Amino acid sequence: ANAGVAHPELWPAAKSQGLIDPKTEAAVTELMSKMTVEEKVGQLIQGDIGSIRPEDLKQYPVGSILAGGSSPPLNSDDRSPAQPWLDTARAFRAASMEARPGHTPIPVIFGVDAVHGNNNIVGATLFPHNIGLGAMRNPALVQKIGEATAIEAAATGIDWAFGPTLAVVQDDRWGRTYESYSEDPEVVASYAGPMVTGLQGPISSWPSLANGRVAASAKHFLGDGGTQNGRDQGDNRYSEQDLARIHGAGYPPAINAGTMTVMASFSSWQGVKMHGNQSLLTDVLKGRMGFDGFVISDWEAHGQVPGCTETNCPQAITAGIDMVMASNSWKGLYTNTLAQVKSGQIPMARVDDAVRRILRVKYKLGLFGPRPLEGKLDLVGAPEHRAIARQAVRESLVLLKNNGSVLPIKAGAKVLVAGDGADDVGKQSGGWTLSWQGTGNSPKDFPGATSIYKGIQEAVSQSGGKAELSADGSFKTKPDVAIVVFGEDPYAEFQGDIANLDYKGADQTDLALLKKLKAQGIPVVSVFITGRPLWVNPELNASDAFVAAWLPGSEGGGVADVLIGDAAGKPRHDFKGKLSFSWPKRADQYRLNRNDPGYDPLFAYGYGLTYADKTRVAQLSEVSGVTATSNNPDRYFVGGRFAAPWRLALRDAGGETIATTASASSPRRAVSVAAVDANGVQEAGRALTFTGAGQATAAVTGPSTDLSRQANGDLALLLQYRVDQKPTAPVQLNIGTGK
Ligand code: BGC
Repeated sequence: ANAGVAHPELWPAAKSQGLIDPKTEAAVTELMSKMTVEEKVGQLIQGDIGSIRPEDLKQYPVGSILAGGSSPPLNSDDRSPAQPWLDTARAFRAASMEARPGHTPIPVIFGVDAVHGNNNIVGATLFPHNIGLGAMRNPALVQKIGEATAIEAAATGIDWAFGPTLAVVQDDRWGRTYESYSEDPEVVASYAGPMVTGLQGPISSWPSLANGRVAASAKHFLGDGGTQNGRDQGDNRYSEQDLARIHGAGYPPAINAGTMTVMASFSSWQGVKMHGNQSLLTDVLKGRMGFDGFVISDWEAHGQVPGCTETNCPQAITAGIDMVMASNSWKGLYTNTLAQVKSGQIPMARVDDAVRRILRVKYKLGLFGPRPLEGKLDLVGAPEHRAIARQAVRESLVLLKNNGSVLPIKAGAKVLVAGDGADDVGKQSGGWTLSWQGTGNSPKDFPGATSIYKGIQEAVSQSGGKAELSADGSFKTKPDVAIVVFGEDPYAEFQGDIANLDYKGADQTDLALLKKLKAQGIPVVSVFITGRPLWVNPELNASDAFVAAWLPGSEGGGVADVLIGDAAGKPRHDFKGKLSFSWPKRADQYRLNRNDPGYDPLFAYGYGLTYADKTRVAQLSEVSGVTATSNNPDRYFVGGRFAAPWRLALRDAGGETIATTASASSPRRAVSVAAVDANGVQEAGRALTFTGAGQATAAVTGPSTDLSRQANGDLALLLQYRVDQKPTAPVQLNIGTGK
């Protein structure tokens, strides 16, 4: 079966991508004329350092090595944690280049998952994961991140980064959502070219390695972000039109920027595994889209093609895979593939085409030439790279809520920094950090990195302030404000798939911490570490300010740059991040995308407050009743007792409804409302109870999306709006039953 493409016109046509020139093609032809069939087949095989040794290359002339999930061991005399990487890369290269009779020396290409910096290496700069970069909407900075990543990789002898991920994630339950820039194809398309250019250098500057750049791999072709139920390695059932328009959006710009490789996806389209899909790999990618580099398969994924095993899969090569990531099965696959080529089961022309593509890349990359940065291990974690990462952290933060003037925090303040993410670089870096899952690394493994707490401490101590670290929220002296850092623990790939978007389900630890601090009259700022938008309404309601920090990486100081103002409380840096993924209002809104019919998010795509949008909180009084009116838009009087689902309506002076919220789903009883101060902090001694289940937080929908407000189920009913969009006419806030 072959899920064929029926409408080639839907797919963008080729442009020149700079990989083919007569000189290179002649050099490739010349080299190929010397190669034995064994050497040609060897070029198609990639083995993982966990199961191949340099000595093996004498007998098996493989074309590539990867380090996927395993790290070379540190020796006691290594002067840097990057040293074993450099030694490993050099040892394999030397083995491939060894001069001996009957052997054509061709350097192996050495690839790693450098997906947010050269993230396997202790001490490397770790950039925010892609979901955070998406919130920046800053392609120029993305290009700089690509450059810095390439430099740190090239310095350690690495030739090739398995990125960028160009998935356009449509279902946030997928465990790889954080590897995606956006749910929106436009954002992904706007980053694909700059990231490829950053990693490889502009086409005009090639060979890349001569300039301290490496090869990129646009992945995972195609449709990885659109699988059913967001299942990792699942089946994408989009129409051909939507496959091209949504999931294909990043590839033409990546190809036009010259991406040297494309990685095939574990997933299927219409039930057909991508690794066996000739129509998409060959006709669309190499034909219609004009991709002249080579297609690398994903980790042993060829073994999932029907009729294949990991050591036996002519189907993948005939479908258009040029190099097989036969990580641990490399020996068996090499042996069987060689036999299949010799018997004619795999056409020699297909092998020659694959070898040509691989060698073309090896020339354009500069594998045969000088590598001026190699061995300059001081470049790993260099201050100028950390500065780029820190800027990216600042720009990626999305401010979802800021009641009154909680943020920015005065530099001289007493700040309590709480939560299990406060001083944990591993947690703030997420998956694909020092190991596949990024787990199991304590902060001592991150030399040069700054935790969020350390960044805050640095910022406040310069102005005589004080930061106290406390995982459980206890403190020695009462703080002026608490910053609570919490969120998802690291995961990668299928481990991260979830059933719904409920942040922690029944585990209320973080919520309890927020409430405990609030109960002591301390304003609470939540910094949420996460790989995707999650249902956090209770945590949002329990916070005075709420920042989505994504997975910021090693430069936690970027968080303090924005949260901590100057001595007078003026911002030093404003919030710039805007959601590149819609934020759910309910835990079952896992397929929430901006162009969906009936789109009903809590925070819409593109949302993100700034300090200029400073919100004000309505004053509330202890009245009972269902309707309250105010001529002063700063004051609202609400309260009541409801035995039925309720609904909040905001009306203008003429009684016209200008916005409504969703209603709570279950009866609310014993509703009483107490006063809150300008910061939304409940005034002392005025108890407030909202009992009963239901939805208490809602964003405005309809024509008044410029107004934002929240009904806070735990504290009070708050009405927020932007000062610059303050309503001019009298506003009436109604709480009624039934409608
Ligand atoms: C992932 C790829 C990654 C590869 C190599 C696979 O499991 O899907 O994204 O590049 O492993 O580590």
